[in-house]
Amino acid sequence: MEVQTKYIFVTGGVTSSLGKGIISASLGKLLQAAGFSVSIQKFDPYINVDPGTLNPYEHGECFVTDDGAETDLDLGHYERFLGIRTAQANNVTTGRIYFNVISKERKGNYLGKTVQVIPHITDEIKANFYQLGKTGKYDIIITEIGGCVGDIESLPFIEAVRQARWELGANNAIVIHLTLLPYLKKAGELKTKPTQHSVKTLLEAGIQPDILVCRSEQPIPTDIRKKLSLFCNVDIKSVIEAIDADTIYDVPLLMRKENLDKIVLDKLRLSPKQKTDLETWKEFLGKLKNPTEEVNIVVVGKYVELPDAYKSIAESFVHAAAQNECKVNVAWISSEDLVNDKLLRSLEKADGILVAPGFGERGIEGKVSAVGFARRNNIPFFGICLGMQCAVIEFGRNVLGLSEAHSTEMRPDTPHPVIDLMKEQQNLTDKGGTMRLGAYPCRIKAGTMAEQIYKDSLIQERHRHRYEFNNAYLKAYEQAGMVASGINPDKDLVEIVELPSHPFFVGVQYHPELKSTVLQPHPIFVKFIQKALEYKKVQSFN
Ligand code: GLN
Repeated sequence: MEVQTKYIFVTGGVTSSLGKGIISASLGKLLQAAGFSVSIQKFDPYINVDPGTLNPYEHGECFVTDDGAETDLDLGHYERFLGIRTAQANNVTTGRIYFNVISKERKGNYLGKTVQVIPHITDEIKANFYQLGKTGKYDIIITEIGGCVGDIESLPFIEAVRQARWELGANNAIVIHLTLLPYLKKAGELKTKPTQHSVKTLLEAGIQPDILVCRSEQPIPTDIRKKLSLFCNVDIKSVIEAIDADTIYDVPLLMRKENLDKIVLDKLRLSPKQKTDLETWKEFLGKLKNPTEEVNIVVVGKYVELPDAYKSIAESFVHAAAQNECKVNVAWISSEDLVNDKLLRSLEKADGILVAPGFGERGIEGKVSAVGFARRNNIPFFGICLGMQCAVIEFGRNVLGLSEAHSTEMRPDTPHPVIDLMKEQQNLTDKGGTMRLGAYPCRIKAGTMAEQIYKDSLIQERHRHRYEFNNAYLKAYEQAGMVASGINPDKDLVEIVELPSHPFFVGVQYHPELKSTVLQPHPIFVKFIQKALEYKKVQSFN
């Protein structure tokens, strides 16, 4: 019998940033723990075809999937919580929907009909809702709708949810509405009115939410639950409290305490396939919350004011911390602030320095200086993408004596383009989706730190960049002691550089942070933290 895929739609009300992604990922985790195969997808109402061209200040990190899609950072949560791999199909924007519809119209696929929001746009949205379910691989698909109900731009998505629910039937599709219960200190009260209004907006669109998940700073007393139940036509058991948590990784357990998984399964007429197994998750939380040591890591970046800009890096540290049973204190420093020796000395307290990915010239010299500081002082160093390129530039300038070594991204006329544009990038004019994107293989050199880390000779990692190590300089670098320990076997591109003379100095052209999950922390982050702990111990003896 074909699997009847069940659908859960998650909408949001009152304000944005309530953590729909975390709630969706937590519910997904619980359903997975009950034996179901689950995927999560996000539908974003903005007009960009994907978030690839968005400034991180606008929208946080751009998460890249194996198939090279540039996607919303919530997909990172889905992967980290569920240990699944997402793809382009897991993230669809209004821009993509219109792009598809307009392409079909230009091809004449609509046979002379007037193309309209209903039914053509909503049909396209629904086709995308069902795309993953149709693969037959999933029992349950959770669909997160970005933005807030009532926003003009999300109307077609909400209408498509209404239609999908009608077509699939109440036992096969449910709607969870995430809202906020503000707490008024002076009145000492949690207020339900904003939630009532946002549910009303959903009702106007023809959608009765099945479950309310209410974000709150305070526990929600029974009388407030009763009130919400009465005003929003939701049975009281289905009014769920989502109280602020110490860590996002507590949320699955908090949702379980509120029986969210049980209620969802009841409404979808499903029985658990197994006794809920969250043992490894709890083990992870146990280690995370009971560290025996601590290390200080400095991340040198450009978008440090906005924590979401480096979301996956921050989460990778959490996973690696638990694995090493230590607390990782991460200080985010703007590379623009590292302009002189005095400021550079602020890095002295670091047990490890990570130079972050990035684009453009701003702050680049601070990043290069930070690399030099880590190299000279034997501080564990980890460079990601632009961070690796900075390591190459620094080594070129200060070890090989190529004082003007640079990347042609920052200085197109450098006499020493140690980082240069790939040939296939040279004549591109479109910015969207044209970088080297997605998973590529990398061969690991025997006897290197990379081999110690991966314990493998061929790996796959995800990329998002245009520039590369310039192989014209490879020999000179290797002779001077920088080893290319990972190479793309098809194109001979340098993917990992390291310094065997240094306790830990590793730069990678790809983005390992995109593959770190709760149950499979990324081995480079794990090793980096381990080396930072070792460094700290040696320092305390000196
Ligand atoms: N700006 C660099 C490039 O395009 C690095 C990109 C990155 O760090 N993701 O190659």
